[in-house]
Amino acid sequence: DKILWNDEIINEEDVKIGFEDRGYQFGDGIYEVIKIYNGNVFTATEHIDRLYASADKIQLVIPYTKDVMHKMLHELIETNEVENGHIYVQVTRGISPRQHNFPNPAVESVLTAYTKETTRPFAQLENGVKACFVEDIRWLRCDIKSLNLLGNVLAKQEAISKDCYEAIQHRGEIVTEGSSSNVYGIKDGVLYTHPVSNLILNGITRKVILDCCEEIGLKVVEEAFTKDQALAMDEMIMSSTNAEVMPIISLEGQLIGEGKRGEWTEKLQQAFEHKIPSSIGV
Ligand code: PMP
Repeated sequence: DKILWNDEIINEEDVKIGFEDRGYQFGDGIYEVIKIYNGNVFTATEHIDRLYASADKIQLVIPYTKDVMHKMLHELIETNEVENGHIYVQVTRGISPRQHNFPNPAVESVLTAYTKETTRPFAQLENGVKACFVEDIRWLRCDIKSLNLLGNVLAKQEAISKDCYEAIQHRGEIVTEGSSSNVYGIKDGVLYTHPVSNLILNGITRKVILDCCEEIGLKVVEEAFTKDQALAMDEMIMSSTNAEVMPIISLEGQLIGEGKRGEWTEKLQQAFEHKIPSSIGV
């Protein structure tokens, strides 16, 4: 497979990553993961908008227009002939002798993007997954999709070590989001999810799900809920670009609802499925 390195599509072995790249040393950069269904990029505009918004929030200048970015990513997908999978793209503040403050004068940012063929997690989407609580120890700018993922990494690892698929993070009693997903609870025909703020990533899948709620007539309340409320939900869901609309069937070893994919969740999955591009050609 080829790699997009700045504005060139080249062989993997020709990519040179500087040991003083600020992404490498400080996590000083931002990224996106965009899903490819049947050769089509899904919600590409939203992901590219969020990439530039994250860049803005850390005063990182991406030296391409959004339009050029879109074309470059699309070209990489075509070159690699990806049918189903995703594209990962990151931009760092560039290569400069190690010092915390921004390079002055600024140096060129470094873009890398690659594609990966994957299959959708069909079994888990049907059977659901287990989750556990992990204290959210991350910083207060979780709205930025930054390369600094150590808090998320530690949370996910804790979940995996407990034989869970995802960590449901909480700040004190309040549930925020997963280690790499947004989290929802459904109770008495109402879907609850943490409001968009500095404490969560404004998920693109979250937005798609809220649209699906409207379509299927599921009332949405964008209000945070507590750990106790989470345990008492009829249904729980986590969502991300790769996990899609994923049912959570147990939390801290306790069953959620009947311990299987709930009816609203299944309806949401069906509505989501209708939004997936089904044919070749963007
Ligand atoms: N929150 C966090 C912390 C994430 O890493 C992700 C995955 N990017 C999400 C939420 C879900 O975002 P999206 O639906 O845009 O993939």
